[in-house]
Amino acid sequence: MRGACPGAASLSMELAGGCCAVSLWLLLCRLPAPGAAAPAPPAGPLAVGQFWHVSDLHLDPTYHITGDHTKVCSSSKGANASNPGPFGDFFCDSPYQLILSAFKYMKESEQQVSFMIWTGDSPPHVPMEELSTKMVINVIGNMTSTIQSFFPDLQVFPALGNHDYWPQDQLPVSANEVYSAVANFWKPWLTDEAISTFKKGGFYTQLFQSSVSPQPLRIISLNTNLYYSPNHVTLNITDPANQLAWLESTLEISLQKKEKVYVIGHVPIGYLPFARNTTAIRGYYNERLVKIFRKYSDVIAGQFFGHTHRDSIMILLDEKENPINSLFVAPAVTPVKSVFQRESNNPGVRLYQYDPLQYSLLDLWQFYLNLTDANMKNESNWKLEYILTKEYGIEDLKPENLYEMAKQFTVPHSKLFQQYYNNFIVSYDKSIVCEGDCKTSQICAMQYLDHSFYTDCIQRG
Ligand SMILES: [Zn+2]
Ligand SMILES: [Zn+2]
Repeated sequence: MRGACPGAASLSMELAGGCCAVSLWLLLCRLPAPGAAAPAPPAGPLAVGQFWHVSDLHLDPTYHITGDHTKVCSSSKGANASNPGPFGDFFCDSPYQLILSAFKYMKESEQQVSFMIWTGDSPPHVPMEELSTKMVINVIGNMTSTIQSFFPDLQVFPALGNHDYWPQDQLPVSANEVYSAVANFWKPWLTDEAISTFKKGGFYTQLFQSSVSPQPLRIISLNTNLYYSPNHVTLNITDPANQLAWLESTLEISLQKKEKVYVIGHVPIGYLPFARNTTAIRGYYNERLVKIFRKYSDVIAGQFFGHTHRDSIMILLDEKENPINSLFVAPAVTPVKSVFQRESNNPGVRLYQYDPLQYSLLDLWQFYLNLTDANMKNESNWKLEYILTKEYGIEDLKPENLYEMAKQFTVPHSKLFQQYYNNFIVSYDKSIVCEGDCKTSQICAMQYLDHSFYTDCIQRG
């Protein structure tokens, strides 16, 4: 934790994007005078810590501009690209240039961050025959060195995605070529102990020592791909790679040591907000994880996932419907959608702000690239999409405040919910309205993560 305020770049972005936030930040932040000596470490209640979250890069190395729109990228699977440009297309995974533009923007924003979380999925969505173990390893290696070249000194906490294996989704429960190769790539970021558990099961835990708090933050990076419904390898296994037992004992030790924990992973727990009665991971594992997270909710200060490519929030409730945990799903960098989908997402990256003493989450800054506009202007004009507390009028990201926000959304024709939905698709198309069944699915998935509460919510309509 080195600084307390968003850098000058983000202030000017705010000027372009909204009004009031600038003056508020200027009041709250003690910006150093030009030419002044390096500011003293922030102290007192105004100080905040920050970290980046990137997810679902999905590099498509075949992406290239050509007159035949069926041949722009393998990831369109023969479909016509819609409007291909230098930064990509909504029917294609990310060109390298798009990924570079995202990291370049993050670097040039000069945000003072303590670390970055990276929640997986580097290879493209292409038929199995077009990839191999070697190619998947190469893409993950390429993305790792890309991040390291932009942020050579930054601590990164990565997690594996369901595409970070070949064949996709089939992540194994024991040591294999991919876990081993990826462990080698990630050695500069991870401790020997973390590398050792990662090689066996694709998960790890590691402490982050803040410069402000005497208490370190514990990161638990889960391999939730072991629970992902299409993973046949783990069918009928009660505790794949013994990760659930490991998670419980890790959280138990954290509880005893009075630590705080951030849980990161690729496939989120809970229900998919755009589907009905569908969990992302198998129902059985979902129930077990919800139980564990309820038991240790005092220890867990935040949970962070990717995979859906959309921007969504979940609030974990205890058995008495009290909000006890905040969960965040970050949108993807890839803008890809299939020909069967109406909606996609613009590329996004995000910044979280946290209390550097207690690690409770204070705010979230979502940045995005308007892909159509960027292609038209041949310019990667990444900008701020929204600041969560200002967007929804809440004080911070504590579970009780997010729960209150979700309650506001349930009001018929709620403008706040429409904003949430627009953010869900990363400002892909402001004219799309989510009402009726669409809204019910969203609202129920946001608040109810276990089968019995979720089913009740859907039945209430
Ligand atoms: Zn993905
Ligand atoms: Zn995924």
